[in-house]
Amino acid sequence: MRTAVFPGSFDPVTRGHESLIIRALGLFDKVIIAIGENSTKSSFYPLEKRIHWLREVFKDHPGVVVDHYSGLTIDYCKKQQASFILRGLRTSADFAYEWSIGQVNKQLQPDIETVFLLAEPQYAAIHSSLVREVIKNGGDPGLFVPEGLSLQ
Ligand code: ADP
Repeated sequence: MRTAVFPGSFDPVTRGHESLIIRALGLFDKVIIAIGENSTKSSFYPLEKRIHWLREVFKDHPGVVVDHYSGLTIDYCKKQQASFILRGLRTSADFAYEWSIGQVNKQLQPDIETVFLLAEPQYAAIHSSLVREVIKNGGDPGLFVPEGLSLQ
């Protein structure tokens, strides 16, 4: 069974995340969306809401599991018997950020591979932070979050 962990904040889930996960289901039997409880980064939306929205979006995809974790991603992968970490690349800035994390993870845990999928062009500009900005300023985030999802 090929299992990938897709770690992130998902604060909130966007069409970019959704598209990446659906594409990853063509490569992996199981994708665990793992919300990292980061000690240094505080979230905009509470963990429970972020989990609820992700479960809602992927309710018809039995290969997708939504979970949360704290600590090192590689330790969480071992616990889940996952051999892959999935990440998305939108721009060279993402690459620069991912490069060092990927290299450190490889040194800490050589048998876990980080797999990158390029963002689809139509979603490459979507960031959770942009969605939050639209919402904070009273705009409609509908175009950027998965279709039919209401962030309530
Ligand atoms: P983090 O805080 O770890 O960056 P995010 O929730 O912002 O968490 O992102 C989780 C993963 O989803 C990252 O690998 C990120 O590159 C990827 N991602 C975010 N937005 C998009 C998008 N629009 N298209 C493809 N991948 C994306």
